[in-house]
Amino acid sequence: MKPRMIHALVLLAFAYVATMAFPAQSQEAQAAKRTLVRAGHVLDVQTGKVSDGQTIVVASGTIQVISPTSAVSTQPGDEVIDLGGMTVLPGLIDVHTHLTMNPDFDPYRELISTDAKEAINGVVNAKATLLAGFTSVRNVGANGFVDVDLRDAINAGQVPGPHMQVSGPLLGITGGHCDENLLPIHYHLVGDGVADGIAAVQHKVRENIKYGADLIKICATGGVLSKGDDPQASQYTLEEMQAVVADAHRLGRKVAAHAHGAQGILWASKAGVDSIEHGSYINDEAIGEMKKNGTYLVPTLYLEDWMIEKGSLPPIYHQKMVDVSAVAKSNIKHAIQAGVKIALGTDAAVYPHGLNAHELDVYVNQMGMTPLAALQTATVNAADLMGWSKKTGTLEPGKWADIIAVERNPLEDVRVLQDVKFVMKSGVVYKSAAK
Ligand SMILES: [Zn+2]
Repeated sequence: MKPRMIHALVLLAFAYVATMAFPAQSQEAQAAKRTLVRAGHVLDVQTGKVSDGQTIVVASGTIQVISPTSAVSTQPGDEVIDLGGMTVLPGLIDVHTHLTMNPDFDPYRELISTDAKEAINGVVNAKATLLAGFTSVRNVGANGFVDVDLRDAINAGQVPGPHMQVSGPLLGITGGHCDENLLPIHYHLVGDGVADGIAAVQHKVRENIKYGADLIKICATGGVLSKGDDPQASQYTLEEMQAVVADAHRLGRKVAAHAHGAQGILWASKAGVDSIEHGSYINDEAIGEMKKNGTYLVPTLYLEDWMIEKGSLPPIYHQKMVDVSAVAKSNIKHAIQAGVKIALGTDAAVYPHGLNAHELDVYVNQMGMTPLAALQTATVNAADLMGWSKKTGTLEPGKWADIIAVERNPLEDVRVLQDVKFVMKSGVVYKSAAK
């Protein structure tokens, strides 16, 4: 082909691309389409201040501006959402969920579960969680990489659900809380995330990241809902956890450590994990270490109340739940009073998904937190722990338009958050206040 002809073809190609620009323009116009959220009251979760008569301008899935309603006039094409009588606040965040799992403690059911079944659970539970007002979650433990696919399906708009950070399989020692200990040796059943020793944990961290994990979850101590292990006994060594954290942080992932026993909490914090999950046997030494390192504590307390009221556990788990429940609340109350940073987590899956906001009630009415401090655990603190402070946690221009509304000011009664009336995530309305 002659150069001139190539030149002509290039021109033609440019002309073609230019015509293709028209749909792109209309897409831009679409993106610029504004939604005006007319809010009776907007609650600032950083200060507790309530501003009346505000309009939140949403476009392209993000908050553009928040102004007094009198200053924002409607333009042609605007969609207007009237939340005139409501209190509006940022979408809530739960940093400890298992969306692919359901409350079912029959060990046999656990053994016959499949990834396909768990994916279906995930679709149902992601929606329930979002409709409860939780617009972001961390999913800290799933079989296979079902949570990765769930996150991707939500992000692709295939199914409704919160923004997710997912861990994939939990890393743990052989025979530990994160292994599968229900069958005798001739079945050779091993948990997906089992890894012993420094080289093995490094490999597992890298493997989880390879298959899509946003964060790494490890089991630093024994747990309650697992056979034959002791919640108070530490499982990973300090050196193994240091290796996990070094690799995870180097590769841009945070680390969450399941830990009940005091030594495991201490070692995990010393190793540099970003959050301690549960923390039931936390003592002064562990509290001091966590404060020094800025480690978040993610208490998961409402599950104890739910278990006492509605749960029934098989004998292999029952006594452990009794023992942990007997001490966890007083230890964690002590840690809160000592000033350890708290982010809200629920362990939803141990009880039905969608009840996540009950955790706030425990923080206020049993742990002695102020309602504002409790609300911050589910917004600014949780966003900070996830590394998402620039994206969510407050209502501010440039952040995701993740907006919820309730009928009264939650600072007067946090239980109002158990009945969220309106949910918007990234500018899309999933639950309408219209009755
Ligand atoms: Zn959990």
